[in-house]
Amino acid sequence: MTYNSYNPKYKAVFSKANNHIVIYDTTLRDGEQMPGVSFTVEQKMRVAEKLDEIGVPQIEAGFPIVSKTEKKAVKAISNMSLNAEILALSRLEKGDIDTVIDCDADIILLFIASSDIHLKYKLKMKHGEIKEKVSECVQYARDHGLRVSFSTEDTTRTDLSFLKELYTIALDTGAERIGITDTLGCATPEGIGKLTKEIRKLTKKTLSIHCHNDFGLALANALSAIFSGANAVATTVNGIGERAGNVPLEELVTSLKFLYSIDTGINTKKLTEISTLVSKISRVNIHRNKPIVGSNVFSHESGIHVAAILNNPSTYEYISPESVGNKRRLFMGKHTGSTYIYNKLKEKKLTLDEKTVAKVLADVKRVGEEDGTVNDAEFWDIVEKYLNS
Ligand code: MN
Repeated sequence: MTYNSYNPKYKAVFSKANNHIVIYDTTLRDGEQMPGVSFTVEQKMRVAEKLDEIGVPQIEAGFPIVSKTEKKAVKAISNMSLNAEILALSRLEKGDIDTVIDCDADIILLFIASSDIHLKYKLKMKHGEIKEKVSECVQYARDHGLRVSFSTEDTTRTDLSFLKELYTIALDTGAERIGITDTLGCATPEGIGKLTKEIRKLTKKTLSIHCHNDFGLALANALSAIFSGANAVATTVNGIGERAGNVPLEELVTSLKFLYSIDTGINTKKLTEISTLVSKISRVNIHRNKPIVGSNVFSHESGIHVAAILNNPSTYEYISPESVGNKRRLFMGKHTGSTYIYNKLKEKKLTLDEKTVAKVLADVKRVGEEDGTVNDAEFWDIVEKYLNS
C-alpha cells in the first residue's frame, strides 16, 4: 500500500454521486475577462476548434450582451458544427436572454449574485425580488427553447437556506443544471465539499462548480467539489481569468486521469499544444514552473536525478512528458554528475578517460555556477579544449 495516488474511497464516492464529469471550459469567457486579454472573433473560433478537437464536451463561448463583436463570436462558434455543446452567459435580464437566443447557443448560463454583500452593494435587491427574477427568467429562457443552467454568484458567501431556495426555484422552473460559484476564490476544500454535499441533496440533475484561484486552491476546491457530488467543472486553459484566475484545464484533467483514474475523455497528449496556443493569443506567458505544461516540468539538472532518469524516467517523473505533449529537457550546470557527461559524449561517439571527464565536469560545474546553466555549445567547447590538449 502506498499513498501517492488516489484513494479507492474517493472512487466509491465518485461513482455513487456521478457517472461522468463534464468539463465546461470558459477560456473564452472568464479567461478573456482577465485584464489585458481580448480575443478577436477569429482567435475565439480557433480556440473553440482546438478545445473541440481535444475532446472538451462543453465550451462557454462568451457573454453576448457585452458587445456586438462578442455576440458575433458566440454566434459564429455556435454555428461551427462542433461536437462540443456551446454555452453562453446571461444575467437575469430579458435583454441578455434575447441576445443569447439570437446566438443559437445550446445552453444559457443564467447567473445572479446571491450573497448579502452583493445584494446590498451591487444589485440593491431584496431576497424576494431575486427569487421572482429567477423563476421569471428561467421560465422565459425555457419558453424560448433554451436549455438552462442556473448559477448563483458569490455562492460561497451566501446563506445556505437562501441558496437552497434559489436552486429549488430554478429546478422547479426547468433548469437542467444548477451551479456553485466561488467567485472570490475564498472557499476551502473542506468548506466547498460540505456546501456541495448540501446542494447535491436537492437534485440528481447536473451540479456544476466554478472556482477561482485567489488562494491557490482552485484545483483542490474543484476536486473536493467533484468528490462531494459536483459533476460539471469550469476550467480555463492555463488557468487564465479574473485576478488569480480559474481552475487550469490541463491540471484538472491530468489530476483526474493520472491520480484518480477518472477519464474525462480529453486527449491529454494535446494539452501542451492548446496551452501554447492560448498563451500566444492571450499574451499571457506560461511560467516555466507551471504544472503539466511549463517548460521546467520535465527538466532535470541534478546529477543524481539525471543519472536515474537515464536509467528509468519513472524515478523522477510520475507521468511521461509525452502523455501531456510536453518534452523532457536535461540540463547541465553546477549539479551535473559524471553519468550525464559520459552520456553526452556518446552523442558524438567520443570516449574520454576518467581523468579528462573529471576535468570536463569541473569546468561544467564552474560555468554552471557562473551562468546558471551550461548550454550545448558551451559544453562542446569545453570538451574540445581537452580533446586538443
Ligand atoms: Mn469567474
